[in-house]
Amino acid sequence: MAMKFPVCNKCVKSGSFCDSCKHLSRKGYSKEEIETYKKIHKSIKDMKHLGDVEIKRVLSNNNFAVIFCKKNDISKIIGKNGIVAKKIEKSISKKIIVAPYDSNIVDFSKEILRPINIIGVNVVYHGEKSKYIVRIPSSDKNIIKIDPDFFKHLADEIMKVDVDINFE
Ligand SMILES: [Zn+2]
Repeated sequence: MAMKFPVCNKCVKSGSFCDSCKHLSRKGYSKEEIETYKKIHKSIKDMKHLGDVEIKRVLSNNNFAVIFCKKNDISKIIGKNGIVAKKIEKSISKKIIVAPYDSNIVDFSKEILRPINIIGVNVVYHGEKSKYIVRIPSSDKNIIKIDPDFFKHLADEIMKVDVDINFE
């Protein structure tokens, strides 16, 4: 059994959308994301114990790729002593962060912003719209790895929410 991706095996092997999967490009999946699936698949296809792992999304910027999966699969994608994560990082030439796909905004923020200590997450309403404010101590400003704009993009794509990071 092969590791599962949101696109079919043909797409994962070719690194581009097939006719049956190309509708996903309208749902925010980019060609770059499919290319990343291909690289991930190639780097770990010989690791049979990862066969039941399901990758839900992989969103990247220049430095990081955030791999979203089921909570139970996180430790498998990282591997013992980070061996699997290192293989993936080598193949995509980026650092990876592995985060839960089905989560709440607090856990989502904690995992992605690790090792930052989140003070709290508040919600503010503007009429019909709501926005989450992720509160971080100013003293952690220098250890934040993820660019706040990229974090906003991740929250928008995965959690379908609007967020702001607030240093205080
Ligand atoms: Zn396909």
